[in-house]
Amino acid sequence: MPPLADQTPDLLRSTLAELQARYASLQSRGLKLDMTRGKPSPEQLDLSEGLLTLPGNRDHLTEAGEDARNYGGVQGLAEVRALFSGVLGAPPEQIAVGNNSSLALMHDCLVYALLKGVPGGERPWSREPEIRFLCPVPGYDRHFALCETYGLVMEAVPMTPTGPDMAVVEERVRDPRVKGMWCVPQYSNPGGETYADETVERLARMEAGAPDFRLFWDNAYALHHLTERRPNLRNVLEAAAAAGRPDRPIVFASTSKVTLAGAGLAFLAASPENLRWYLGHAGKRSIGPDKLNQLRHVRFLREANALERLMEGHRRLLAPKFKAVTDTLERVLGGSGAARWTTPEGGYFILLEVPDGCATRVVELAAGCGLAMTPAGATHPYGRDPDDRMLRLAPSYPSLAEVEAAAEVIALCTLIAATEARLR
Ligand code: PLP
Repeated sequence: MPPLADQTPDLLRSTLAELQARYASLQSRGLKLDMTRGKPSPEQLDLSEGLLTLPGNRDHLTEAGEDARNYGGVQGLAEVRALFSGVLGAPPEQIAVGNNSSLALMHDCLVYALLKGVPGGERPWSREPEIRFLCPVPGYDRHFALCETYGLVMEAVPMTPTGPDMAVVEERVRDPRVKGMWCVPQYSNPGGETYADETVERLARMEAGAPDFRLFWDNAYALHHLTERRPNLRNVLEAAAAAGRPDRPIVFASTSKVTLAGAGLAFLAASPENLRWYLGHAGKRSIGPDKLNQLRHVRFLREANALERLMEGHRRLLAPKFKAVTDTLERVLGGSGAARWTTPEGGYFILLEVPDGCATRVVELAAGCGLAMTPAGATHPYGRDPDDRMLRLAPSYPSLAEVEAAAEVIALCTLIAATEARLR
């Protein structure tokens, strides 16, 4: 199709009529598709089916000889911490294993900081008249939801291909009301960016107005490659320690998209001081995590390269779905100038950028064809994308055939919305 920008109003009107006819025919297929959330597919979960029969009868002793069925062990089993030490970039003694959700660990750290304060701080964050968090945008809606729920003011920071715009971050972070920042440093949700070494180092060493400023370093996609390339993300704990600010980052990760999304293991890694702080509070909250699940994971992943092989299995299932989306977008939208999109090298999302003012309309049109998309605005604090431009596509859960159909719908709806916009 010729670029929309080059089409005369008459041509645009006939283009629109033709697109509407295609839309009506898609509607008649009675599709029922869901691309809203980055959930693993049933086939991906099947890769870890072996977990369900582990640790097995009478297998409940840890390497230290403790009974994993009982209370205790708030930091998590030493063998699990050793197994994930490389992924987290921290020695086992600086790691805690939580239950099944890293988001829950982020939530807890935020709440402990609000109610009790963090090392290096003068008082609990909730005693400050106002607390602010820097939020790279586009970003993860559940990070924003945590801020909103606890009344933290969110400040959007634009993302660049090398991570958040550091000139903006370094300027904003001088404000002592800024207590924290969300970071998804590898295959970011939803833009897919991986922070450059320079970005990580500047985040580690920058001058912050608040002495107790924290980086909430959510490395959710540490292992989730879609290509042969490996990004080799700079270790933030090492960078911060080298910059004399060891307590700045708190690193989070989980096996939600490695083993089982609802029954994986979550991790926190931090400086010795931060870890003591976290365990002090976590030990009040619970007498100990589910250590049988930890044991089960150790048994399941104990063979050399088990993690790599598992992730390769995920890649084999996921990569064709991502390709189906980007191929379809290229086929339908290529040359039209109606959108641009990412071709991520890892993670769970494709970011689709449509003309200003069109994202809400695309979601509305897609719903009319039986496709549920992540709401427009979800990529921004308070659910408000000021340009109404960004859409997060999550191709992991539906089958390949469904992803192909969904991509067709999204591409067509984008063209319609963009054509309508040019005719306004
Ligand atoms: N962090 C990011 C950036 C995510 O995209 C997700 C899930 O989509 C999570 C955290 C959730 O992690 P968990 O399942 O460990 O709570």
